[in-house]
Amino acid sequence: MAQHQFQTEVSRLLHLIIHSLYSNREIFLRELVSNASDALDKLKYLTVADEAYKTLSLDPRIDISFNKDEKTLTISDNGIGMNETDLIDSLGTIARSGTRIFLEKLAEDAKKDSNLIGQFGVGFYSAFMAADKIDVISRKANENASWKWSSDGKDGFEIENVSETAGRGSQGTTVILHLTDEGAEYANRWSIEDIIKRYSNHVAFPIYLTYEDKQWDDKGNEKASITKTDRINSGTALWRRSKSELKEEDYNEFYKQLGHDSEEPLHYIHTKAEGTLEYSTIFYIPKKAPFDLYNVDYKPGVKLYVKRVFITDDDKELMPVYLRFVRGVIDSEDLPLNVSREILQQNKILANIKSASVKKLLSEFKQMADNAVSGGDEAKEKWETFISQFNRPLKEGLYQDFANRDTIQDLVRFKSTAVEGWTSFADYVGRMKSDQKNIYYITGGTGGAEEKTLRSSPLLEAYRAKEIEVLIMDDDIDDLIIPTLHSYRKETPGADGKTETQSWDLKGVNRAGADEELGENKNRDAEKEAKPVLEKIKKALGDRVKDVKLSRRLHDSPSCIVADDNDPSMQMAQMLKAMGQASMQEIKPILEVNGDHPIVMGLKNIDDEDRIADVSGVLLDQALLVEGIKLTDPSDFVKRLNRLLS
Ligand code: ADP
Repeated sequence: MAQHQFQTEVSRLLHLIIHSLYSNREIFLRELVSNASDALDKLKYLTVADEAYKTLSLDPRIDISFNKDEKTLTISDNGIGMNETDLIDSLGTIARSGTRIFLEKLAEDAKKDSNLIGQFGVGFYSAFMAADKIDVISRKANENASWKWSSDGKDGFEIENVSETAGRGSQGTTVILHLTDEGAEYANRWSIEDIIKRYSNHVAFPIYLTYEDKQWDDKGNEKASITKTDRINSGTALWRRSKSELKEEDYNEFYKQLGHDSEEPLHYIHTKAEGTLEYSTIFYIPKKAPFDLYNVDYKPGVKLYVKRVFITDDDKELMPVYLRFVRGVIDSEDLPLNVSREILQQNKILANIKSASVKKLLSEFKQMADNAVSGGDEAKEKWETFISQFNRPLKEGLYQDFANRDTIQDLVRFKSTAVEGWTSFADYVGRMKSDQKNIYYITGGTGGAEEKTLRSSPLLEAYRAKEIEVLIMDDDIDDLIIPTLHSYRKETPGADGKTETQSWDLKGVNRAGADEELGENKNRDAEKEAKPVLEKIKKALGDRVKDVKLSRRLHDSPSCIVADDNDPSMQMAQMLKAMGQASMQEIKPILEVNGDHPIVMGLKNIDDEDRIADVSGVLLDQALLVEGIKLTDPSDFVKRLNRLLS
């Protein structure tokens, strides 16, 4: 018998499971059944795709039994099985780094996130919510040895070679739970049936429950006891059934199992395509973004089946990255069963299914957005939930999915200086005065400035005065994505039946060229008058700035910084530097000053060079500070400011 230690993360997880996460204890059964079903899927696939397994006769099934007196619950499958190495790797470690990162976050606030437990692929360990000892007996398909894994879920596990057969056939896995006092309620026919119906009814393999059916005489004594085995799930692939025979509950139930979610989905889309391509898809939008949405090694949410045979649930190619929050199934009639991952990547059929699925999803999102305008409160709330969770990944689609860019442009939402809540590009141009040429926005850089900071930026002053709306982009990816858009296009049906395309340029207000619509400076001679002042400042600041200009966008503030049209913004430059892009040439801002401001105009009559240097330095540094940019020499700023104050 060999003793093994759990990987540190597993110990931490188990500790959490045992001490904090009781809120939804029953889901452990769903997790074990789902593992059994995956194991059957894997073996079924091998029997059709791999010569070595073709002779194996497979009657796939999952069996559940229990013993009330001994407080045990047993789940068996005749799937792929595990050998010694598999047991050590699968039931002693957590492979995905995303899961590990999530666990760290979870540890801080375990109770609050307790119902996320099933969502991050640590399914098996959840059985320790109901058991204080677990035995797993397993034999891998086409191998001769059986192995027994045992653990009390504390710090390690034991593995030994055993003679028992696991599961029904010659291969498979049996999981025996030694239930805790609280877990003992699951050694019961009715609770098992209830849980399986609720979570695992659509598992594609039959699930059988074995129980003692007791007969009682008139006096209440046991007359006879017969062992019965009933099938307890309906087990049809839900996506292959016709929509008319399915109820909303069926869809919701299937989602909970598929998405490891205890909540109902926000939305579902069931499609059956017939014709040149034959396939079924079912897609779900969760109510909450998956925990690993922003991890590079996120777990993909869409499973691929071919003619109802499970192929993979770990192929990121099935959905574009920006739609990684979608959960669901793609089942194709046309793909060969023995598709390999490499083949999948260049497969035309799959590419077509994928592109049709993306179009379908985007058009459903559009419908959801339209319903929010024309429908009732519920439709509005649904759309708001959607945007609050998925606006950001959708924005990624603006640069990832060029073919659907126009559709995505109408889905993404922004905050604005003109209205409360979310608004779209289409709404913006709808509100625009007839002579306005561009759409204006302000970004906070990839550090993601706070909305409040952006709203009080001096860059907005003149736009506010002229009642020009500015979109507030406080998402940290806005600064990367929005400038790549260049313009917003809208197609409207023209008078003669042709579609007319209108287009508006998108302009960041922190850009040198974004002030053309703000009008000339009030005083014609302003430029001339300000010239000596500008020159004084320029001389004082030297190579800290690219240029010093008279501003058209300032009303109350004395100064602001803008980026040259072809330069990255200052915030962006700061981020690139932080990321170690030191080789990047230093980006210098353009300083704009307000010719009507007393501080600026005051410089006219000052000739003391030290004093000019102090005022100019403060004008630049305060403009940087308001934009949330870190000063390279804060003490220099403070010294200058103090000299001026005294
Ligand atoms: P997940 O199922 O999300 O991968 P689990 O912790 O539930 O996470 O399971 C870990 C791994 O253990 C599985 O990926 C699988 O390789 C293996 N495993 C668990 N249960 C079984 C089973 N009944 N038959 C075969 N392998 C299993």
